[in-house]
Amino acid sequence: MGDMIALERRYSARNYDPLPVVLTEGEGAWVRDEAGRRYLDMLSAYSAASFGHAHPRLVAALSRQAARLAVTSRAFHNDRLPPFLARLCSITGMDRALPMNTGAEAVETAIKVSRKWAHVAKGVPDGRQRIVVCEANFHGRTSTIVGFSSEPAYRLGFGPFGPGFDRVPFGDARALEAAIGPDTAAFLVEPVQGEAGIVVPPRGYLAECAAICRRHGVLLVADEVQTGLGRTGRLLACDHEGVRPDGLILGKALGGGLLPVSAFLAREDVMGVLEPGDHGSTFGGNALAAAVGFEALDTLVEEGLPARAAMLGDRLAAGLRALASPLVREVRGLGLLAGLEIDPSRATARAVVDAMLARGVLSRDTHGTVVRLAPPLVIASEEVDWAVARIGEALAAVAATPPAPGRS
Ligand SMILES: *Cc1c(COP(=O)(O)O)cnc(C)c1O
Repeated sequence: MGDMIALERRYSARNYDPLPVVLTEGEGAWVRDEAGRRYLDMLSAYSAASFGHAHPRLVAALSRQAARLAVTSRAFHNDRLPPFLARLCSITGMDRALPMNTGAEAVETAIKVSRKWAHVAKGVPDGRQRIVVCEANFHGRTSTIVGFSSEPAYRLGFGPFGPGFDRVPFGDARALEAAIGPDTAAFLVEPVQGEAGIVVPPRGYLAECAAICRRHGVLLVADEVQTGLGRTGRLLACDHEGVRPDGLILGKALGGGLLPVSAFLAREDVMGVLEPGDHGSTFGGNALAAAVGFEALDTLVEEGLPARAAMLGDRLAAGLRALASPLVREVRGLGLLAGLEIDPSRATARAVVDAMLARGVLSRDTHGTVVRLAPPLVIASEEVDWAVARIGEALAAVAATPPAPGRS
């Protein structure tokens, strides 16, 4: 087969820097590399593999539907999309859903619908609509979306960017209220910031934002691409504060770890501004994606995965805190979405991640200082304990190694 890493280095664009492991198989919370070594997947593709790898029920739904009917475009109806959308709306309490493929496309959909809603329903002149977003947000990688990112690396060289976004500090509801003006269409927010380093806002923040949005006639749009579908211990992270957003963005786990499936969901009067021809996607809502998405939602409910994430998330956090590593400044998170903040004067998060890899645990660092942990929700409690023990060994090994010069 040759050297896969060398081959990828030769032919792939250099937009990623993967850890030096070549995965070939996966089952449940475990993956295997070319040499047959097993690793516990404590990243699960940033929640896209929340159901674990090769979930038998999801693989069966995928192969059954692939042999029957997969892609016909939305020029016609198919028999799998309506039940999927009905289930998606009933489970989330939203009125209508617009299926897309990737998370970024669903975010783009939310932006377009919010702007059109502000124009049609609030009379904001077209071209003047504004959307409030948060510092350190992550909503995907299209040119519109990186245009309102506060991360220079995501923006540099990719301009010009469109206007119409106002950034406020995350976790500060008063700043949101101050940023709202007559042309504000929506507040787009992650209930827990993932990419920023698993940042959990103060208790009550989202509920306060919801009240502010309602008071000012602004849509609250929750980007739950990563936090949704059980990850944080509730079906939606919004549920922790009893918040029903006006718009909801789902993705990642919605595809059961097998396909890209995303959706923008909204209230009747919000989604109602779209008319035929306004927006679409060739692959969005295809029969194969709908069949897998439907099965993923059923599996989530029947296996009680949100409650499992709550229970195992507590176990993971308690285990990590009990390690009491001098390298770790803070353990934070919600449900099975956790971050280990590494003291940058002592080590890099990348060094910890490398040491975990050597001990059979996969994860990734974000922003240099945070080790991101988001195992499949199907992980067993003994596997959580096993991961914590290996992470403890990795932290001890890194603590015993003097930092390389110039890499602090
Ligand atoms: C991953 C992610 C996205 C983008 O999803 P893609 O499928 O990579 O386009 C958007 N928002 C949040 C919160 C995410 O975590």
